[in-house]
Amino acid sequence: MNTGADSLFSKIARGEIPCARVLETDRALAFLDINPVNPGHVLLIPKEPYATVADLPDDLAAHLGSLLPRLCRAVKAVTGADGLNVIANNGPVAGQTIFHVHWHIIPRFQDDAVHWPWPHSPYAEGALQAMQARIAEAAATS
Ligand code: 5GP
Repeated sequence: MNTGADSLFSKIARGEIPCARVLETDRALAFLDINPVNPGHVLLIPKEPYATVADLPDDLAAHLGSLLPRLCRAVKAVTGADGLNVIANNGPVAGQTIFHVHWHIIPRFQDDAVHWPWPHSPYAEGALQAMQARIAEAAATS
């Protein structure tokens, strides 16, 4: 099962499975995705086995976030990308396949074959304000 200390990324973090490392700290590791969307696609993980962003302690999330600008600059400089997608899939329904939280740093090019964005639609009358109130209250207390 790709979760907890037995997940593929936990094994990579412990050095039990090799990876093409590009950046490492005491709490985090960044390496090349083995099946990149485009060459230069990097994954950033914590070394500890948290499944999703919501599970991360604030200080570890802050540490991981602090590494993103540097990784983005490096990927962009090396690949010559026109832009980047920086995303974390959370849960199977969102496309997560390895349940050890990770950020994708994906170089994007003007004429690449990637199809983005996903569909958007506006709120019904009053629904935006109702959603705002509910999430703001939950964010203040969770
Ligand atoms: P997810 O779908 O969970 O958001 O992303 C998992 C990512 O891990 C995929 O992009 C996939 O290509 C990558 N991946 C799967 N197995 C390996 C592996 O053994 N090594 C590396 N470096 N990446 C992997």
